[in-house]
Amino acid sequence: MILVFIGTAGSGKTTLSAAFGRYLEENGYSVGYVNLDTGVKSLPYRPDVDVRESVTAWELMEEGLGPNGAIVESYDRLLPEVDEYASRIARLDGERDYIMVDTPGQMETFLFHEFGVRLMESLPEPLAVYLFGPEILKEPHDFCFVRFFSLMIDLRLGTTTVPALSKVDTVEDLEGYRKFLDDIEYLTARLKLEPSTQGLLAHKMCSALPELAPPTRVVYLSARTGEGFDELETLAHEHRCTCGDLT
Ligand code: GDP
Ligand code: MG
Repeated sequence: MILVFIGTAGSGKTTLSAAFGRYLEENGYSVGYVNLDTGVKSLPYRPDVDVRESVTAWELMEEGLGPNGAIVESYDRLLPEVDEYASRIARLDGERDYIMVDTPGQMETFLFHEFGVRLMESLPEPLAVYLFGPEILKEPHDFCFVRFFSLMIDLRLGTTTVPALSKVDTVEDLEGYRKFLDDIEYLTARLKLEPSTQGLLAHKMCSALPELAPPTRVVYLSARTGEGFDELETLAHEHRCTCGDLT
């Protein structure tokens, strides 16, 4: 069972790959770890597959590229090896119960580069976990944004995607967040009261969500306290058994 953590830089992908993997190991499962970030210096887990064996952003910066150029160039250089990496991950998946795939720091590297898209196409039934931090949820339309972004990942990568609020240990009013994220009807009704252009757009978009999106539930995670790990384990298990129906 392959879990792929996707999210903006700092959303907690690397920390969660390590913490959730450790949790599964403590519960008796065998876990494999995959690092797809060419720019990371140290990792809190020991990767079984690591793209830095082929290339690192650091060595390309030493060749004179800037940080952004080096990241893009590193995935250009990885592209010819994408099938080999996909086979190695699939082989690891055959040997272990769960595979944690930690994706590049910058999300666009994975979603917009052919390396990420082709890798995901080649993996057997991966489940994507879209991580977003509580700091981006300020206005009602932000909640609509993350639900749609999750759907966009699904569209781009062709993978069932679970939206996951990360770092919930830093959230005081989790119930307030849950109300907006769990209950699309409530969110849509709330958006109707937003007079701004964004509010209007979000209201239209959220009204269409039940028809567009598979009825996936949202998970609430903390890599620090382990909150929500049991829920993520259940979702992963359901994904394996039912392939996509995560209501
Ligand atoms: P990545 O760029 O998505 O891989 O994010 P990292 O895993 O490197 O985490 C970015 C920062 O968020 C680090 O300083 C982590 O210690 C912190 N962090 C990650 N997960 C959590 C969490 O569950 N709770 C808290 N409070 N901080 C977290
Ligand atoms: Mg990372």
